[in-house]
This record gives sequence, C-alpha cells and structure tokens, in this order.
Amino acid sequence: MKERNDIWNSLITAWKGLKVTLGHAFQAGKQRKPQGVAEDNYFKQQEGLVTIQYPREKIPVPETGRYQLHVEIDDCIVCDLCAKICPVDCIEIDAIKAVEDIGITSDGTKKRLHAARFDIDMAKCMYCGLCTTVCPTECIIMTDTYDKSVANMHELTYRFSEMSPEEAAEKRRMLEESKKPKTDNTP
Ligand code: SF4
Ligand code: SF4
Repeated sequence: MKERNDIWNSLITAWKGLKVTLGHAFQAGKQRKPQGVAEDNYFKQQEGLVTIQYPREKIPVPETGRYQLHVEIDDCIVCDLCAKICPVDCIEIDAIKAVEDIGITSDGTKKRLHAARFDIDMAKCMYCGLCTTVCPTECIIMTDTYDKSVANMHELTYRFSEMSPEEAAEKRRMLEESKKPKTDNTP
C-alpha cells in the first residue's frame, strides 16, 4: 500500500513540475512588450519572454531621465554658466569675443561670443543635470540616448564647437586688431 502511495505522489509531483515547464515553453513563443517605468503595469508579471532583444528592442525611457548631453551650439551664447556650475568640471569652453555681428539665437538672444571650443567629457559627467537648469537659452539638454558605448574612453569627450583652429586663430587676430588704437592719417 505504501509503495502505491509513493508511486502516486511521485507521479503527481512530476506532473506539477511538467506543468510549470510546459507553461513556460508555450509562453516562450510570445514576446513580452517592452514597457517604460512610467506605465501602470510595469511591475506586473506579463506573459512571454522577459528578455528584451536589445538593441532591436529598448525599454522606453522616462522623459525626465538624464542621459547623454547635447548642445545646440547655434543657440549657445557662450556665457560659461554651465561650465561654472558643473561639480566635476567636465565642460571646457573657450570663448572669443566677436568683433563682427554674429546674429541671434532662436529665442532672440544676441550672440557676442564665439565658441572656439565647447567640449563635454561624458566619462566624467555625473548626470546631475545642473548645466541644463542654468542655461539661459536652454541649448544644453539631456537626450534620451543612454547606450553610448565606445572602445576608447577619449571618444566620450563630445566636441560641439564647429570652429576649426584656423578659424579660431583668425577670430583672435580680428579681436586683437580691433583693440589697436586707430591711427589718424588725415594731413
Ligand atoms: S550633468 Fe552635471 S556633471 Fe554632467 S556636465 Fe552637466 S553639470 Fe556637469
Ligand atoms: S549655459 Fe547654455 S548658453 Fe551658456 S555656455 Fe552653457 S550651453 Fe552655452
């Protein structure tokens, strides 16, 4: 009698285990939908494979997320506020005073300085977002790009200035020229 009960219990246990395995096997045919953390059922167990097929599939990131920085350099007035507030000094700006009219930003702010250099070292950045909050023209922003892997760490220094060293040298020369006292050649 005991042997018969043991056999019966073994069969029931094996069947329970098999049911779990078969359940997962059938669910594996379905793909779980990537969901952003802001969605209501983000933490609910969904049916299907949990593994996201990255990079073909990505989990949507929240709008307020802090990821890679971008500078819309045409809208930058080179005020240096972002570099000054950065707690880890990862923004390097080299400004040259413009002697000619260099136009306005998209919000109508007059531009008076050239950005001969505007580098952000994202390897140093701690994603605090302070630089984006102080920018008067809102031209430095956090994008939703988070998957930026590089083979060489130096590639994480993003260069936003569009000015070549030769152009920068010319702008400096023009500035020095403008500082020279005007000679009056009238007889
Ligand atoms: S997010 Fe913070 S650490 Fe990164 S560049 Fe801006 S101020 Fe510096
Ligand atoms: S705070 Fe904004 S406008 Fe000023 S230098 Fe930085 S990015 Fe340019």
